[in-house]
Amino acid sequence: MVTNSVVVIGGGPAGLEAAASVAELGTSVVLVERRGFLGGTPIAENYANLTPHMESAEVAMGRLIERVTSNPLIDVRLEAEVSACRGAAGAFTITVGDQQIDAGSVILATGFQHFDPGAETQMYGYYEHPDVIALQDLEAMLKTHDVVRPSNGEPPKRLCFVQCVGSRDRQIGNEYCSKVCCGVASKEAIEVRQLLPDCKVFIFYIDMRMYGYWENQIYWPAQEQHHVQYIKGIITEVLAKDGRLLVRGEDTTMGRPMEVLMDMVVLSVGMEPSAGTRSMAQLFGVQQNKYGFIDSVRAPLDTVTTSVPGIYSCGAALGPADLEDCASSAAAAAVKSITSQRLRVSAG
Ligand SMILES: Cc1cc2nc3c(=O)[nH]c(=O)nc-3n(C[C@H](O)[C@H](O)[C@H](O)COP(=O)(O)OP(=O)(O)OC[C@H]3O[C@@H](n4cnc5c(N)ncnc54)[C@H](O)[C@@H]3O)c2cc1C
Ligand code: SF4
Repeated sequence: MVTNSVVVIGGGPAGLEAAASVAELGTSVVLVERRGFLGGTPIAENYANLTPHMESAEVAMGRLIERVTSNPLIDVRLEAEVSACRGAAGAFTITVGDQQIDAGSVILATGFQHFDPGAETQMYGYYEHPDVIALQDLEAMLKTHDVVRPSNGEPPKRLCFVQCVGSRDRQIGNEYCSKVCCGVASKEAIEVRQLLPDCKVFIFYIDMRMYGYWENQIYWPAQEQHHVQYIKGIITEVLAKDGRLLVRGEDTTMGRPMEVLMDMVVLSVGMEPSAGTRSMAQLFGVQQNKYGFIDSVRAPLDTVTTSVPGIYSCGAALGPADLEDCASSAAAAAVKSITSQRLRVSAG
């Protein structure tokens, strides 16, 4: 049966924006989220404040969640997953739990997961040294205004970020840049300096990649107003030494080996496709790129159309993305998912 409703899979920033946009254009939506709550990674991982305006993640996401939950055209299914799909564009039958749902089109917004910094190729001691943490661990500490060394509960006096962990790394096959981590590390560095003015903060980078306005909004203020120290260098290993952390690498500006002592090390982990992105891509038969993200087959001018008619994707399921990218691709996927159905109806 031909139907004009849309199924959105994933209730993170991208899926929420897609569901809200579809419904605000007058089409009914079933939003399927595997977790017991909406908000995606920013809520699940307790992000503190968001770039570039430092608004609380909870407040910003709360606004988006309210837009979805208050719209009577949206049916939210929590702790739910899609187990089967049959039919074709305009007339899909989707199995969610034990129920069959008719949908004209589907939007995959299943997001990303953080690179595992304890993978065996990594020499940073993430699982060995409690004071080696990752970006999302520091977000959770910043959210509760409690940045302390996990090993002894004391505030750090020297803290550094190590950039490009799990990204731009040919050896592990993640050659891509994860796009948000330079900005997020700089934002967190500012927050640490504000919270602990006596703590010296360093960022070790290969090269800083601040996109668009983040250059002026985050990067320069971090240096000029908050005295975060950026050091161009490659960190090769982190070792425990006398109750602190010895960070080893190469200062690439000076071209010489470098060893510095820190109290805390924060690994700027990259983005990989979530398990849900991989499994939903397979279930719906859409083409994935070599990293497992969903391919947008009409890029660059159409970033949301997949290889299967009637199936669209948005947000970090398509590759590394910040929230602005998520909002843009979600709105595009919403429009395409509705217009493709209307074009189909008027054609025949
Ligand atoms: C540490 C860190 C801090 C960041 N801070 C910022 C910031 O300050 N500003 C900014 O612009 N960006 C930031 N980002 C990027 C931001 O987190 C992402 O752009 C955004 O979360 C991507 O949204 P999404 O909806 O595509 O994916 P996600 O947030 O990953 O949401 C995907 C949702 O899909 C659900 N899902 C997955 N599989 C299934 C399935 N099979 N069935 C049903 N549901 C499923 C998941 O449970 C999840 O709720 C940060 C990233 C990191 C790593
Ligand atoms: S955004 Fe920065 S830290 Fe992240 S992968 Fe790109 S260059 Fe590396």
